[in-house]
Amino acid sequence: MSESSGAASTVLVNCTVVDGRIVDGVGPLPDAAVWVRDDRIAAVGPRDEVLAQAGEQGGFARVDLDGAYVTPGLTNMHTHLSLSLPGSGGDGVKGMSPHELAFYMADGARRTLLCGVTTVRCVAEKDHADFALRRAIAAGRVVGPRIFTAGRALVCTGGHGHESGDTMECDGADGFRRGVRSQVKAGADLIKVMISGGIAGEHESIHTRQLFTDELRAVIDTAHAWGRRVTAHAGPAPVIAEAVELGLDCVEHGYQLTPGVVARMAERGTALVPTLLVTRCKEFFDELGVPEWMQCRSLGAGPRHLESYAMALEAGVEVLLGSDMPPFWHFEGTNASVRELEYMSEGGIGPARALYAGTLGPIRWLGAEADLGTVETGKYADLVAMDADPTAETSAFRGIRWVMKGGRVVRDDRSGWSAQ
Ligand SMILES: [Zn+2]
Repeated sequence: MSESSGAASTVLVNCTVVDGRIVDGVGPLPDAAVWVRDDRIAAVGPRDEVLAQAGEQGGFARVDLDGAYVTPGLTNMHTHLSLSLPGSGGDGVKGMSPHELAFYMADGARRTLLCGVTTVRCVAEKDHADFALRRAIAAGRVVGPRIFTAGRALVCTGGHGHESGDTMECDGADGFRRGVRSQVKAGADLIKVMISGGIAGEHESIHTRQLFTDELRAVIDTAHAWGRRVTAHAGPAPVIAEAVELGLDCVEHGYQLTPGVVARMAERGTALVPTLLVTRCKEFFDELGVPEWMQCRSLGAGPRHLESYAMALEAGVEVLLGSDMPPFWHFEGTNASVRELEYMSEGGIGPARALYAGTLGPIRWLGAEADLGTVETGKYADLVAMDADPTAETSAFRGIRWVMKGGRVVRDDRSGWSAQ
């Protein structure tokens, strides 16, 4: 099967195709076939029809997926490939030279793709290495997911995450305007801003504001003027409420939401990336040697964080998959991306909406729906296959055994193939 991966024309057969349109009652399509020509989907539909269509255009390789479910690859909306938390593990990453960091991130990108995460949204990466990595992946020099990135996150002096090169300190409205423009200049697809304290900063707390209104407005207005959306690291409800009124497009974490603020988020179409893992991952923190004060703050915020998530669902806020933890990190028997999606599913949305929240929902937020997010003719062939039904159980994603990105198979467990 791996030999056929380079063929210009491939038909995937013996599979059921399902994607995020399931929430609108579209699909699943059993006994389907997907015709992949070069890097895109040329046709998808009932097997015999697709085979006939492909046959008319000449020879093709046939790949039997053994009754698997085929979905779009996952999109992880809160990724840091250069993450360095307080503690010995993070210190190791912080101490890397730029060259070491680039290789480290390239390794993470490859692992991420092999998990079936075909697109990531990076929301703070060190030293603009994310832009180099994105170019290397696009040029085919490195194996990895499609990258949408914010570059460095904007923070006030001493603000959340100021300790390393994945943030840029700004002050005053002019400073934040310059911050936005400097990230756009470097190639940012979106802007990330820290508007409140968080878990990983020793001298701050989750519930305090960090930006003044004029600074926040400057970030949002400047980004929008350049056609970039803005997402904010944010915990407390009053800070989020103000940002939502100023036009914020997405909230990360939302540790302390209230019924009032989620109602406004729903009305204004502000999405939530809840990152539920970050307040329930002691095992991960222990592996990285994360200090006691941070672990207490994180795990202590857990119950309220889940309540906030439930409130957001109740109000109809759009929720999207994002792990904060590196997307490939081995955690609780699977990887961080799949585990987060399971928590979101169990926390109230169920498997069908979880499939949407891990694929089409994020792609719509990124404005990339013309190319990605569903299994439809004309889109990039970014696909995964698994044996169990993901619309019955989100844990089906644990069983991803085949991954294709842009028409190229990068992982096939049955033939023992995996991209190095
Ligand atoms: Zn983060």
